Amino acid sequence: MRPESEDSERDSASRHAKNQPGTAQPGTAQPGTAQLGNARPGGNRLDEETLRELRRSSILHVDMDAFFVSVELRSRPELKGRPVIVGYPADRSVVLSASYEARKFGVRSAMPMAVAVRMCPSAVVIEPRHKLYYEVSGQIMAIFGSITDLVEPLSVDEAFLDVGGAIRRLGPPREIGELIRRRVQSELGITASVGIAASKFVAKIASTRCKPDGLLLIGPDETVPYLHTLPVSALWGVGAKTVEVLARMGIRTVADVAATPLPSLRKILGATGEHVHRLSWGIDPRPVTPVRAEKSIGAEETFAVDTGDDALLHRELLRLSHRTAERLRTAGMHARTVALKLRYADFSTITRSRTVSTPIDSAQLLYGVAVQLLESVGPRPMTVRLVGIRAEQLEEAAQAPLQLSLDRRDDNWRAAEQALDRVTRKYGNKSVLPARLLDPGNGPR
Ligand SMILES: [Mg+2]
Repeated sequence: MRPESEDSERDSASRHAKNQPGTAQPGTAQPGTAQLGNARPGGNRLDEETLRELRRSSILHVDMDAFFVSVELRSRPELKGRPVIVGYPADRSVVLSASYEARKFGVRSAMPMAVAVRMCPSAVVIEPRHKLYYEVSGQIMAIFGSITDLVEPLSVDEAFLDVGGAIRRLGPPREIGELIRRRVQSELGITASVGIAASKFVAKIASTRCKPDGLLLIGPDETVPYLHTLPVSALWGVGAKTVEVLARMGIRTVADVAATPLPSLRKILGATGEHVHRLSWGIDPRPVTPVRAEKSIGAEETFAVDTGDDALLHRELLRLSHRTAERLRTAGMHARTVALKLRYADFSTITRSRTVSTPIDSAQLLYGVAVQLLESVGPRPMTVRLVGIRAEQLEEAAQAPLQLSLDRRDDNWRAAEQALDRVTRKYGNKSVLPARLLDPGNGPR
């Protein structure tokens, strides 16, 4: 799927010509290219050369400013200009979002709440309303989707967009960035910052540098000089450990990395050396990759022999819950609704579903709901042939998904199951299962 496919010819050339005086005037197209099927009423057409040039920097990174705080301030405008923190006011909680006024005191996202409040005692602390943020997130993504199909969400409030195919329709990337900022402001009442560049990596740097409420385009020719003014930590994949290792070798800036011969970097950093070296020269060929939102995730099993045994059904539900939860976590999704499916011996099928108050991605919680649903069916008319679980109404996990659960026990389950995911990925599916599932009884086929 190339961006051109969604390119509309309507009314774009005149718009564009207006915005790029001297570069896109009608009639400036090269002879021989002018009639390649692009003629339109009025005779205006976008200069191919200009279009090519504009498409060199067509990747946008759009990021809301202090997202959760901004959403809260819509209904509490009297707090504008004051230090505001969104997070649970509990000891073990962390800051989910801080206003720029609070950041002046050193408050940062993911900082323990206790530390943040000590740093900024005047801050107003607001408890998060995740449901509301998910709603606004959906509206943000809808605006992005109206610009281009090539949207790669990074979290609830930020995404990469490749707008190369929207230039004819909407104007140069800079104008598209401003259009998005205007729409977010007027339709949602919050502000967004937009970075524009030839690559995802540089676009992300650009949006970070122009926050809050800004737009920064780093053109192809400015990219390397700009990168070379930054510290090594600006490079993707360079964390605190790598910064330390590089500093020991006297490498502190992106320019230092660029000036270090590749074999030396490989010696210092191993395989990462090559990646880091390429980034230091602004080379990042990764395309914007849209993720298709899954509508539901589930698993089902047909029994080897039809069964009426509750214990066996429960054990199978537990197994299916684990399978479903693992897939949810891999997809970075939470479910608001859990559905149970039963197929009887005569192939008649029933489903029951329940919506939970807090989105879930843990097998224990899925299993709990599934058992309630099974009980809600009441006496079964005959034996069961197939049982299934489906997680529905999926939502993207928030940046700090642990905060979604208020119950510490759930968090512990989650942590245990995430550890299980890691082992499963490493050693395959059968190596670790809850003890109840290891019973070699008459499980399903
Ligand atoms: Mg953000």
